[in-house]
Amino acid sequence: MYIIAQKLVWKSNEDGYLVGSRGSVGSSFVAYLSGITEVNSLSPHYYCTSCHYYDFDSEEVKQFSGMAGCDMPDRVCPVCGRPLEKDGFDIPFETFLGFKGDKEPDIDLNFSGEYQSKAHDYTEVIFGKGQTFRAGTIGTLADKTAFGYVKNYYEERGVRKRNCEISRIVQGCVGVRRTTGQHPGGIIVLPHGEEIYSFTPVQRPANDMTTMTVTTHFDYHSIDHNLLKLDILGHDDPTMIRMLQDLIGFDPVKDIPLDSKEVMSLFQNTSALKITPEDIGGCKLGALGVPEFGTDFAMQMLIDTQPKYFSDLVRIAGLAHGTDVWLGNAQALIQEGKATIQTAICTRDDIMVYLISMGIEEGLSFSIMESVRKGKGLKPEWEEEMTAHGVPDWYIWSCKKIKYMFPKAHAAAYVMMAWRIAYCKVFYPLAYYASFFSIRANGFSYELMCQGRDKLEYYLADYRKRIDTLSKKEQDTLRDMRIVQEMYARGFDFMPIDIYRAKARHFQIIDGKLMPSLSSIDGLGEKAADAVVDSVKDGAFLSREDFRNRTKVSKTVCDLMGDLGLLFELPESNQLSLFDLG
Ligand SMILES: [Zn+2]
Repeated sequence: MYIIAQKLVWKSNEDGYLVGSRGSVGSSFVAYLSGITEVNSLSPHYYCTSCHYYDFDSEEVKQFSGMAGCDMPDRVCPVCGRPLEKDGFDIPFETFLGFKGDKEPDIDLNFSGEYQSKAHDYTEVIFGKGQTFRAGTIGTLADKTAFGYVKNYYEERGVRKRNCEISRIVQGCVGVRRTTGQHPGGIIVLPHGEEIYSFTPVQRPANDMTTMTVTTHFDYHSIDHNLLKLDILGHDDPTMIRMLQDLIGFDPVKDIPLDSKEVMSLFQNTSALKITPEDIGGCKLGALGVPEFGTDFAMQMLIDTQPKYFSDLVRIAGLAHGTDVWLGNAQALIQEGKATIQTAICTRDDIMVYLISMGIEEGLSFSIMESVRKGKGLKPEWEEEMTAHGVPDWYIWSCKKIKYMFPKAHAAAYVMMAWRIAYCKVFYPLAYYASFFSIRANGFSYELMCQGRDKLEYYLADYRKRIDTLSKKEQDTLRDMRIVQEMYARGFDFMPIDIYRAKARHFQIIDGKLMPSLSSIDGLGEKAADAVVDSVKDGAFLSREDFRNRTKVSKTVCDLMGDLGLLFELPESNQLSLFDLG
């Protein structure tokens, strides 16, 4: 499994895309050494790349136990005098495989969304044609739909049934297969010499019969005990990093320090951006647009917990992505002064490590962690055992509330990616905004955002007034407006779109300003924007009519572009221009 994952990661890196790890694979030091994950699971340590001096257990290092290597102060090698590297996230291996190696390991990887299909194709190269299948999913009947079916069935036949009889029949229908689909990234691998039919029928997914993709009929949880499953998912972070890399020309792994004070300050205040909260609608932090931390929910957590270290961010990412882990749980405990960000349960690993430290047997500590993180709570005998070992009541209370929890390795991997993007936000602002608007800003609007700060403020105020009634799309637009507001406040500006120079989907940095993509124009989709770029190659447009005919852009969008001043002074039709000349 390691070698397979390694081949996939190497191939992607070779093709210029970083891969993010997800799930618990970062718990494995071998996975780190083989390049599958960037998360080094060892305890915090210093090491010298030159003479191989290392320090895991001096007193200065030990006080960072449970934290991260990059939290430690800089030191020079006492042997050769070179600056020491700092690494280690202190993640137990057992989260990945269990104490007896009896947990099924799972290697999940985040490829760039632009690269995902190539990674899928590459599994065929590794294993051979016909050896890999997309994992199918089975959609089942939910209670509301089942209720509708049963009720309609009797109504159509004029039969009256008591409510209890209806709900009895509904119970019988819930969970019955309704449709099939495909998993977003799961690939099932067939061992050589076996036939797929020994395990599952295969099919085209019912929700898309035209695709060439063949999926397994059964979903992979039903067959993953027997077959290797790889999760090859698509994610925006690696795509962002790739674009930043292209714009800045740096190595996003080697050239970005994980201990930058300026980057850390984004999670504490707005000082690194050289703006004040008043400049950006009262937002107290510089974290807008930073993955994992840019939402109001996450920013409120940052304000409540006041992170000082990189490892605090890992803990907060864990809290933010669990279910019933923060609200009504850790938040209350921190407010009441019973726990701090360092002692609250933030990731599933915390539970196991803590229980072992309290003297509870390792295997049992693992079982308790697994039960809690799946939302199954505590058995009465476990509670007794915990109390007997001096585990405080608030801790037991907290365990019982948790419904789902991130592994620490996953949180660490995500924070590393987020940190890199945050670094560019501080030090390469135009590259950062260009990448964000190109890749993540799906609510971007040229009309609302690119015609100067005053117009933006006007629309922003209007959206804020209607905040409770905004549609999903408008919420995205509001999010993107706030990031544009921050960009203007930092003193940066857009330049008007030049239809002959603009790219279809990507923003460009030209003369210290950002030229938006064609697809940022309302109503001009990505495909239509591609068509505009294609038709530009055939020379200048003679008229609006010529523009519409060659690009297939609709009259409405064309008129909007005219109103925005993007079509220069093109006459309505070629004819008219000849007439004018006459
Ligand atoms: Zn040295």
